[in-house]
Amino acid sequence: MRADLHTHSHRSDGTDSPDVLVRAAAAAGLDLVALTDHDAADGWAEARLAAAEVGIGFVPGIEVSCSFDGRGVHLLAYGVDPAHPGLAAELERVLRGRDRRLPAVLERLHALGIDLTEADVRAVSGEATALGRPHVADALVTAGVVTDRREAFERYLTPGRPAYVPRYAAPLREMLRLVPAAGGVAVVAHPWARGSRRALTPGALAELAQAGLTGLEVWHHDQTDRDSGELSALARDLGQVQTGSSDYHGLGKVDHDLGCHTTPPEQVERLLAAMGSAADRARAADPSVRPAEAVPA
Ligand code: AMP
Ligand code: FE
Ligand code: FE
Ligand code: ZN
Repeated sequence: MRADLHTHSHRSDGTDSPDVLVRAAAAAGLDLVALTDHDAADGWAEARLAAAEVGIGFVPGIEVSCSFDGRGVHLLAYGVDPAHPGLAAELERVLRGRDRRLPAVLERLHALGIDLTEADVRAVSGEATALGRPHVADALVTAGVVTDRREAFERYLTPGRPAYVPRYAAPLREMLRLVPAAGGVAVVAHPWARGSRRALTPGALAELAQAGLTGLEVWHHDQTDRDSGELSALARDLGQVQTGSSDYHGLGKVDHDLGCHTTPPEQVERLLAAMGSAADRARAADPSVRPAEAVPA
């Protein structure tokens, strides 16, 4: 059983449609795939349909942009009801923050003598609900300023570079309350990748485990084998589910091919069981909650 629990479509900063992504997952030999676009759930229906057609399992997720201890932390929320009022309100704030950041980024680029318009960015972001720095990067590629996303980030868009502008991110502790209320389970994405590593000390992860976290993404391209070994031991001590995933972005990210990291079958079972219990608990507390169901492989 090969399961990849973290991928992006063109509803955020990936380059495949959800349909193409799921078909590519099946072609890559995966038995189960999760679609986890940044801050958006609107690719799920298309992905679910494609998964049924090609006969693989499907897990609905959202990679929520969170903040913790002053740093950005990405939280994978699986099986949530995206219409849950509290969760929907936070996602809306993040998406509005993304939209509001764009003019500020373009102003910074303008000051550097690079003239891009919002229309130039919208032209490359196409179907995206979550507008991000990768789309500005794509517009810079189209304009011939840089050759790829990586160069755009290194020269302009990463923290410390001249066109970096921060945006709103949801408080992590609040999100760890909202995800279970919305019937889902929370897994920290690439905890020890650049950015979140400093904030997510072993002590902090222990605190988050107490605060409602279900799992840690142990295997991910942006974490070394040594990181993964330490995270795995930590997850075991904390009773956390251990996931591994590609964080596939289509052509938007190199070295993140579908299935390049996968989640061990017994951990997939644990995650699906946790999703089922979370959905039951949320429905018992509030019958209006509609958790999104996973389709097992
Ligand atoms: P945003 O959420 O809009 O601030 O953009 C963050 C996204 O940019 C991340 O989810 C990554 O997918 C992408 N990203 C960050 N650094 C790079 C990079 N060096 N090359 C390509 N994509 C990147
Ligand atoms: Fe991304
Ligand atoms: Fe991420
Ligand atoms: Zn991701």
